[in-house]
Amino acid sequence: MNFTDEQKMIQGMVEKLAKDKIAPLVKEADVAGHSSPGIVRLLAENDLLKMAIPEKYGGIGANYTTIAMVVEEMARVDASTAMILFVTQSLIQILKQWGSEEQKDRFFGKMSSGDKVNAFSLTEPNYGSESAAIRTKAVLDGDHYVVNGTKIFVTNGDIADFILVFVRTGEGERHRGLSALIVEKDNTPGFSVGKHEDKLGLRGSDLSELIFEDARVPRQNLLGQAGKGWDILISGGADMRAYGPGAMALGLAQGALDYAVNYARERVQFGGPLSELQAIRFMLADMSIQVEAARALTYRTTALMDSGSEDRGLRSRLVSSTKCFASDVAMKVTTDAVQILGGYGVMKDYPVERMMRDAKMIQIFDGSNQIQRVIVAKNLL
Ligand SMILES: Cc1cc2nc3c(=O)[nH]c(=O)nc-3n(C[C@H](O)[C@H](O)[C@H](O)COP(=O)(O)OP(=O)(O)OC[C@H]3O[C@@H](n4cnc5c(N)ncnc54)[C@H](O)[C@@H]3O)c2cc1C
Repeated sequence: MNFTDEQKMIQGMVEKLAKDKIAPLVKEADVAGHSSPGIVRLLAENDLLKMAIPEKYGGIGANYTTIAMVVEEMARVDASTAMILFVTQSLIQILKQWGSEEQKDRFFGKMSSGDKVNAFSLTEPNYGSESAAIRTKAVLDGDHYVVNGTKIFVTNGDIADFILVFVRTGEGERHRGLSALIVEKDNTPGFSVGKHEDKLGLRGSDLSELIFEDARVPRQNLLGQAGKGWDILISGGADMRAYGPGAMALGLAQGALDYAVNYARERVQFGGPLSELQAIRFMLADMSIQVEAARALTYRTTALMDSGSEDRGLRSRLVSSTKCFASDVAMKVTTDAVQILGGYGVMKDYPVERMMRDAKMIQIFDGSNQIQRVIVAKNLL
């Protein structure tokens, strides 16, 4: 992988930030089941929340590969922090691709302060994998859309300033009737944050319900054209799976492997370190092989995305393959790391049990791994 000097510099900066400043705050957030305000502040202070914003709007203009590198590096230490970060970048990427000049000026202008958190809201209580059937309704009334409905499982929902919300504006049935609106939390009467979810893993990132009761969203916050929300979802929305969950799963697996290698070197049983036992050596070797394969696939995909390739079929197949493969690798590698640590592996004093819980989540969100396989097959056949 031919990373530039600038990318390597950013990667080194994030590695240090994650190890020195984020790591000490991770356990408290995991126990609390809420994002850590201290971690969000560190992301803001280090310009990581605005990294995808183009330089001309005050961001640092990071491309897909750079974002993936940052997400990977952060997830080696904490997947929840990586999650807060990449979900924020996804709205920025979609705005770059689909926003009008007026919308870019307005929203990037507000986000350029560097402390804004974004969210992406599609899922509803009755529609998860079947996203084309969502029911949250937006009806035009003068200069506003009046939105009614309930969204669930929204990452960053509790703390987001801007939320990309997929709604039904009714130009047609199913995917033909969807649109995407940018909702400003502080500026939307009728909008509120509902239940905060208490979940197995990724406990340091918030997941919540969003409620729209005659919420009034300015018409000028419609992204692209009415009825074109599905195009936004399957292009910009889908791309997130590579630099988001894909890169995050990769970092998580690498972090668990690093921990297991060090532990195996130090833990002595039967008169020598575990690392001298062939059973353990082969497990570590298999973990490393899988992590390297996930890394190669992740950066092959982001390189294709950065190249501006017009081959939508290949792009879609690689993006879904990355999300699916890397998260299956993370599940296997983190589970094996727990096994190598034995009884200590399942104790809360060690990080690998948290990593295993976090890995399970990645197989489910942003389109479950079954859905990714459906997409890969569709683009293959
Ligand atoms: C930690 C976390 C973060 C999330 N963040 C967000 C977010 O920020 N924004 C957002 O909008 N949503 C978010 N979600 C929601 C997430 O994307 C959905 O949970 C996911 O798409 C699955 O939908 P579901 O839970 O309704 O499961 P269902 O769709 O009910 O699926 C249940 C099971 O059936 C399988 N299945 C369903 N359909 C098929 C099919 N056609 N073929 C094969 N198998 C199938 C699924 O793979 C799954 O195993 C998040 C979820 C989690 C857990």
